[in-house]
Amino acid sequence: MFDPIELGREFFERLMAVDAAITAKVVASACPRCGGPLHVGNYLRKPRGGVLGLAGEAFTLRFSLCCGREGCRRRATPPSVRFLGRRVYVGAIVIVASIVALFAATAAAAHRATGVPARTVRRWIGWWRGEFAETSVFATLSGRLVPAVSRRELPASGDRLATLWPLDRTRNAERARRLVDPPPDRSMPGPSGIAPHLRALMADYAATGLPPAFVTKDPPTGHDDDSSEDS
Ligand SMILES: [Zn+2]
Repeated sequence: MFDPIELGREFFERLMAVDAAITAKVVASACPRCGGPLHVGNYLRKPRGGVLGLAGEAFTLRFSLCCGREGCRRRATPPSVRFLGRRVYVGAIVIVASIVALFAATAAAAHRATGVPARTVRRWIGWWRGEFAETSVFATLSGRLVPAVSRRELPASGDRLATLWPLDRTRNAERARRLVDPPPDRSMPGPSGIAPHLRALMADYAATGLPPAFVTKDPPTGHDDDSSEDS
């Protein structure tokens, strides 16, 4: 059983801004085939968001570029953080729904939580473990991870990167989850020379020549000597 997770409008607005920034970089380069200038050639897609990312369906514009040189007109479509290749579902749903399917008790429970048919998610998981695992992107990423990611468990890594708390508007309304003010400044005063006790020990040592750990034992009281001790 999964509590509802929701990727809201703001989430997709931020992804859109990332896509715009990627496109701005690519537009400054030239056509990879002929070196001609790149012109805006955006087009519309019909992304699906399932239950989790319904807000993502409103973000239909796919940033794209076209070579402006007559006779070439090659399309140059920059990478996107909203669209994952030609998949009809938005990229974030491909990732989250795959993870939910791995951990849901049944395929039907995963379907209820994400709105993505089980057959589609099975295909995605096959892609994570097959085609995706062959890419240089995966090779580069997995080289940085210790311990290495098991291909057979993709898209799970076995490590928890972050806790995704369920959306719970009722609990949030109790304000028990509100941001708290930072605690008052209880930091210690800064260092100001030699600590007082150490300074006293150093003065004693200078005066007496006895090592600082030397503590004079008071003569025992109530006992004559050590003879009463058991061996
Ligand atoms: Zn060109």
